Amino acid sequence: MQTLMCNLCHSNDFELLYKLPDLLLQREQVISTFVRCKQCGLVLQNPRPNIEEMSFHYPPEYDSYTTALNNNQTPWLLQKAYRYGIEKRGRIVRNHKKSGRLLDIGCATGVFLAGMKVHPEWELIGVEINKQAAEIAREQNQLNVVHGTLEDAGFPSEFFDAVTMWDVLEHLHDPSSSLKEIHRILKPDGVLVFRVPNLNSWDAKLFGAAWAGLDAPRHLYVFDPQTLSSLLAKNNFEIHKMGCNIGSYPTFLLSLRFWLLAKGIPESIRMTVLKILHHPIMRVISSPLFFVYGLGLRGPLITVVATKREVD
Ligand SMILES: [Zn+2]
Repeated sequence: MQTLMCNLCHSNDFELLYKLPDLLLQREQVISTFVRCKQCGLVLQNPRPNIEEMSFHYPPEYDSYTTALNNNQTPWLLQKAYRYGIEKRGRIVRNHKKSGRLLDIGCATGVFLAGMKVHPEWELIGVEINKQAAEIAREQNQLNVVHGTLEDAGFPSEFFDAVTMWDVLEHLHDPSSSLKEIHRILKPDGVLVFRVPNLNSWDAKLFGAAWAGLDAPRHLYVFDPQTLSSLLAKNNFEIHKMGCNIGSYPTFLLSLRFWLLAKGIPESIRMTVLKILHHPIMRVISSPLFFVYGLGLRGPLITVVATKREVD
């Protein structure tokens, strides 16, 4: 375990926010401590597992390393909804940049990059720290994926037109230094698109310690629009857009799953409720509600579009 200073303002004045078990992998003995920096408001795990210890918390069955799209057990309608979500992510990139070289950081098995293949004007590259996930991305999805961290990859300066990170920044040990590296490898007119959980969401307030955005012990930082803006400004990025319009429904259901579990609701009731709510029809019916719910940056996930601000 390691104890650290605030990644944003270097203060070591913190207040305790949560002590949480690993709800996703149901490991009650793993307790994580989230604190809030009294100076700048950044929420982080402190103390936290170091990089070696962290590998224990990413077993092969970790959701991001399983390929939902290739799984024959996944119902057709759910696959359709999943593909729609992937296409929506790609559209955000293409709205700001028409073509070029794209890097997806923490690409896992390459689901996003594989979805981008229908746009041949993009050259696609991934980087993934998990060896098995990187191999699946290469072999099953025929993608160009570098195994290791972003820093290990050592890409040339001003190499990429677009960099994406889907639900990754909150997992990194040093988001500030990773953003510096992204700034270096992006072209001057390049675009950074990423998504993180939103601590300022209605979900975070409603579910409290069971909120899926905390995902202890894997999430090392939990951002809100204000701390995210400060972190990007500190690393010379300018925000073009912040929105909460993708991924709200599945994230809400994951939080609900944890909440029902924490409340000791019998398994048969939990399963029935979640099975009904997981049906794609429910997703369609509830989409206007979730659209409204995401207004005012109060949805469970924030998607950010940022560009480089030149360093003086
Ligand atoms: Zn701070």
